[in-house]
Amino acid sequence: MSWSDIVGQQKQIELLRRAAQSGRLPNAYLFVGQDGIGKEAVALEFAKLLNCLSPTAVQSGEACDRCDSCKQFRDLAHPNLELVFPIEGILSKDIAETGKDKEKQEEALERYKALFEEKRKNPYFKMQMEKSMGILAEQIEELIRKSLYRPSDDKKRVYVISQAERMNLTAANRLLKLLEEPPPFVLFVLITSRPDQMLPTIVSRCQPLRFSAPTADDISERLNLLGGSAEKRAFAATYARGSVADAQALLLDTSLQQFRNDAIEFLRYLLSPARQLDMIRKTEEFTKKDRSRDEQLQTLSSLLLIFQDALRMQHAERFSIINSDISDVIAKFAQNFPNADFTVAAKAVEDAMYQLTRNANPTLTFSALSITLKRALTGETLLLA
Ligand SMILES: [Zn+2]
Repeated sequence: MSWSDIVGQQKQIELLRRAAQSGRLPNAYLFVGQDGIGKEAVALEFAKLLNCLSPTAVQSGEACDRCDSCKQFRDLAHPNLELVFPIEGILSKDIAETGKDKEKQEEALERYKALFEEKRKNPYFKMQMEKSMGILAEQIEELIRKSLYRPSDDKKRVYVISQAERMNLTAANRLLKLLEEPPPFVLFVLITSRPDQMLPTIVSRCQPLRFSAPTADDISERLNLLGGSAEKRAFAATYARGSVADAQALLLDTSLQQFRNDAIEFLRYLLSPARQLDMIRKTEEFTKKDRSRDEQLQTLSSLLLIFQDALRMQHAERFSIINSDISDVIAKFAQNFPNADFTVAAKAVEDAMYQLTRNANPTLTFSALSITLKRALTGETLLLA
């Protein structure tokens, strides 16, 4: 792993390299940007650079990737690296001696270790535990304990706090205390896609660094390493809307097809006049509790790409369509609705996605979307009541 393994983010990397070269580092950075675009990958590479033992590393802005320190970073096992993310509550409790709790704790620990295993292989992997209640006070206390001692090698200790918006209030307040009197040998890197959900007092103590989504072309190039046809790669890269992590997952996973099928089905129900009741049922199905927000977003992302393709068809740009394997389906759809305003439709889907990422109620969001889409595509008014 080196800087060149990171997709896009050249400006951000350059800024960090220059900060390392000058030795003028803030106490804390806040890496901001959508999920899956490489904020953690950059943070880990930066931490590795600051700790590299090669005498030319800092000057060149590039870790050697060969010294003992670099190797420990590659294994995510360097004593100067703390990688914090939301964990299951049971892991923060004292170790149980016997019985059911001990068993549950061991299982959770296995899951926790498996996440590190994945992260070692893929810096774009998102470490998350399903039963997590967020970043807990105990995790921050551990950082406080580690802040009492200077690193033995006199390098920077780097605390990477991922999904920082998920700190619970106690955890956030403890971190704030630590940030108010930061130990000189610690660099904090807080990472978030939702800075608006963090304590403003924490945000104001960090130097912000905004990350932007890499282009589909850049992602597609990266996906080369994973194989698959060029067509499939291009599709996954575009579909993932800037998230390298999602694009990787999509290429290796067949659920992509499922999301697209869901989107097409949703559209069919929406557009068939006799099936408004089915439409309501479909909306309910999409927003049922067992469907995660991620899945709802994936379905909407599919729908968005279909509208964008239909728009390209309207403008006779057949060559550039994304869902090339189902181009006949989309062509027919565009033909059947010659007066459809796909620009409005695409915008409505984007708005719905934005609402969902801001924790809007899924049923209301999908219902409002259905009404807007029906009007944009057919000129008809849909009554969902
Ligand atoms: Zn090194």
